[in-house]
Amino acid sequence: MEIIWQEPYESFLRFINKNGYKSLLIICDKNTLDVCVNKVREAVEKTNIKYKIVCFEPDCVADEYSLGRILFEIEQTDIFVGVGSGTISDITRYTAYKFKTPFVLFPTAASMDGFASSVAALTINGLKTTVLASSPAAIFVDMEVIVNSPEILKKAGFGDLMGKITALLDWQLSHIIFDEMIDLEVLQIVKDTYLKTLKSVGENHFYKNLLEGLITSGLMMSRVNSSRPASGSEHHLSHFWEYHKVKTYHGMKVGLATLYVLRFYEHFLNLDKSRIIERKEYKVDTKAWEDMIKRGFQPTFESIIKQNIGRVNKLNDKEFRSNVINRLVEKKESIDDLIRDAIGVYGELVDAYKKLKIPMNYWEIGIDENLFKMSFMCAPNIRERFTILHLYEFLGLTDEVVQSF
Ligand SMILES: [Zn+2]
Repeated sequence: MEIIWQEPYESFLRFINKNGYKSLLIICDKNTLDVCVNKVREAVEKTNIKYKIVCFEPDCVADEYSLGRILFEIEQTDIFVGVGSGTISDITRYTAYKFKTPFVLFPTAASMDGFASSVAALTINGLKTTVLASSPAAIFVDMEVIVNSPEILKKAGFGDLMGKITALLDWQLSHIIFDEMIDLEVLQIVKDTYLKTLKSVGENHFYKNLLEGLITSGLMMSRVNSSRPASGSEHHLSHFWEYHKVKTYHGMKVGLATLYVLRFYEHFLNLDKSRIIERKEYKVDTKAWEDMIKRGFQPTFESIIKQNIGRVNKLNDKEFRSNVINRLVEKKESIDDLIRDAIGVYGELVDAYKKLKIPMNYWEIGIDENLFKMSFMCAPNIRERFTILHLYEFLGLTDEVVQSF
């Protein structure tokens, strides 16, 4: 997959000609029409390539209606061209995949990390779901469009990228405790890219670094065939808040959740081995857990209980507890080193959030205190992927950390 940063429209024409494409389907929304599609159109009109534009409303959703609309409007098409950000790229990557047609993207904002991804986030039957799709053949970047995109989208992109700090820590934690497979090269690439972006806040190259970081995260997910390098406990919290219809951009929720998750890691750093050993005797109260799930996942609590009951029962298994605690004690120093290394940027992160005016408190994005407090116990039930929140659920120390917020 190529990423083109220079002369995007000329490069796009060369790409089209080189591959002999004769007809395009351009997918966009009314916001991206003026800022980017017109430049694509201008370039294409210099040739005799045929094109058709499907333009969605700015608040469209990647759902059955939008997918059906492409099906209704499509004519002979050699390649799909998605011009937009999250939703448009999801509609494009999924329909292109279904039609077995290649596609390229013109991102119009650095707002999320899915550009290079090979899966699409769709809303089917009203529920968010991730489905197999394909990766773009190329991404053409008009930096002028990115720099001039709405502030809120840039903040969201920054939050999503900073979420990699805790996503990577969760991955390392799971690797150390449960021998989960890890790809150290991928880990380092993602780490380098978030650090580069964090260190360039306020500088000329910041937006390029941000978009590059987001695209790279997507590429790394494809490389390991999993979202592990890009999504951990901060994403589980964000999904829980999405479930409760907290209305702000995904990346804003992820960025905020990252700050809270880092506080869990900080707590672990200060946890003595003797206290960890004491936790061998802890037992999850499964009745209280069920009551909490009923409160936290109102309409679908039954399926959440069904999916998690085995996992929660295992937390009370004596042998399992003993193995995990022994491993934690044995590896405490190496875990601490990884945490120290990652949370070294905490101060810079907070400064960056202040500079970019990104929310740093739950109430700023409309989360009430009740919902906030239950988030940290509910989030591990979103997905089985092991994270620091799963570890704290196991240790029975979640509330202790939440009370310090
Ligand atoms: Zn994300």
